[in-house]
Amino acid sequence: MSVFRCTNPLCGRMPKGFVFEADKPVCPKCNQQNPAGAFGPFVFELTVVHLLVPHPQGPILGHHSRLYVACQPKRDALARNNKEDWHATADPRVANCSMCLTTDIGRAIAACYPEIAAAEAVEGGTPLLFDPCSK
Ligand SMILES: [Zn+2]
Ligand SMILES: [Zn+2]
Repeated sequence: MSVFRCTNPLCGRMPKGFVFEADKPVCPKCNQQNPAGAFGPFVFELTVVHLLVPHPQGPILGHHSRLYVACQPKRDALARNNKEDWHATADPRVANCSMCLTTDIGRAIAACYPEIAAAEAVEGGTPLLFDPCSK
């Protein structure tokens, strides 16, 4: 499964366009696909970026705190070797892993950033019992 962006303005407003997960670069809305083997010009594969959550018991030792990956809380390393294509950030504006962003904590962190479209971050979420934006 990969993440793609369709740049057809009928599918989604640019610059974000329409982002979807699929096995092949074929837009489920407009059915647009690239010539075989081509990167673009219609559908672009995106790098998956997971969301890191600062937490005192996180299994990953970050520069400033311990961390865990929102969608894989037991993962104890970022990339495990030089060849592994694995990316993460603590900035929810940059993270695009849908599993990370739809966890309770992912939605809570995203809610602290008004520029993240609410519908995107909180759709289908369960209500939170605490205010993640309070310091
Ligand atoms: Zn499309
Ligand atoms: Zn993730």
